[in-house]
Amino acid sequence: MMRLGTGLVLAAAMAACTPAGPGVGSKIEAQAPVAAATQAAVMHEGFMILDSHLDTPEHFHHPEFAFSNRGSFEADGTQVDIPRMKEGGLDGGFFVIYTDQGELTAEGYAAARNSAVLRQMAIREVAAKNSDEVELAFSAGDAERITATGKRVMFQSIENSYPLGLDVSLLETFYIGGVRMVGPVHFRNNQFADSSTDEEVVFDGLSPLGEDLVREANRLGMILDGSHASDSTVWDMLALSTTPLILSHSGPRAIYDHPRNLPDDLLLAVAEAGGVIQINAYSGYLELLEPSEERVGGIAEIEAEFGDDFEAMDAETQVKVRAAYAELAEHHPAPRSSFATFLDHLLYALDLVGPEHVGMGADWDGGGGVIGMEDVSYLPRVTEALLTAGYSEDDLANIWSGNMMRLMRAAEAARTSDASSPASVN
Ligand SMILES: [Zn+2]
Repeated sequence: MMRLGTGLVLAAAMAACTPAGPGVGSKIEAQAPVAAATQAAVMHEGFMILDSHLDTPEHFHHPEFAFSNRGSFEADGTQVDIPRMKEGGLDGGFFVIYTDQGELTAEGYAAARNSAVLRQMAIREVAAKNSDEVELAFSAGDAERITATGKRVMFQSIENSYPLGLDVSLLETFYIGGVRMVGPVHFRNNQFADSSTDEEVVFDGLSPLGEDLVREANRLGMILDGSHASDSTVWDMLALSTTPLILSHSGPRAIYDHPRNLPDDLLLAVAEAGGVIQINAYSGYLELLEPSEERVGGIAEIEAEFGDDFEAMDAETQVKVRAAYAELAEHHPAPRSSFATFLDHLLYALDLVGPEHVGMGADWDGGGGVIGMEDVSYLPRVTEALLTAGYSEDDLANIWSGNMMRLMRAAEAARTSDASSPASVN
């Protein structure tokens, strides 16, 4: 399969030009796309490119995974590592502390808290082990300083605040360790908020504890993330937060009507308040895709054996179910969307809210990636497509990281937490 690293963008453009013929006129014409592709590749290298939702820490505890080794999506399913970040020009982003959700009980919270703390330790360990290539970032200024040295930037975020239990002050512990972005909820409703993908309406937005969480995030200087939250939760966050919201990996519902995507009025309101939507590349939220009969049969078999409520399973069963799904995916993978459809979402959002309110959070290593953009090495394709669509170099600088760093700075400026606490531990 052809890889589209920066050099290969040029190669692809040249290949496209070969049938141009020997005439002088056609030679001149044939050079235009080559020049455009070269310009895109050079420009791409110059941007600070950050993704707002990297699920790569999911792999950090696997003994065979090394962040410094080049993996392959086709061979091992991974999408982000230092070599591929370099190939694709990805300078870094928010590495996610994600926690599966169990029961909303003291035992459930305690187990989740431990798992989230370990995940944060794993991120810090990977940063320490690869300190010649990457560095933990705690502020927008850090990101600039680190990229200037040629290293990759590792911010941290929390996806699903379930591990905080009933004690929002625990958020400060994660802040001290480096977390700078927090989303209250994941697939199911929890103690803080209603989820976009839970059928029940419990709070119709944030719970009173969820409101405390928003206030605590503002106090600490963290960006609030509305991805996975129900529409009413995002409206509540918008009303309460003193700083602009991010939707770290979401899409426009006008392109595909899925609860994980957001309606135009809500996207406009988030943008109006200074916020940003970071476009997801998760196939299931990009378009309706029908799995093969074999895959449907395979899923039915797994569910017959283990049930269909993953988050209610004990840890041991979850491991077995993950393995069963991985095995199924090898023979009958889930259908995937295309680069063209991803672009439909991106261009629609850009048109709706403007280039100062859009970025990219592709859900790499969390199910993201489409045919034609399988891993982060393909990112130059996005720059090329946006230039072709008429966006300027300044627009692209904002889309690739400027917008998100504007939010980071707003969160930092709004921080009212005691200045003596270790705000900057770099
Ligand atoms: Zn997610």
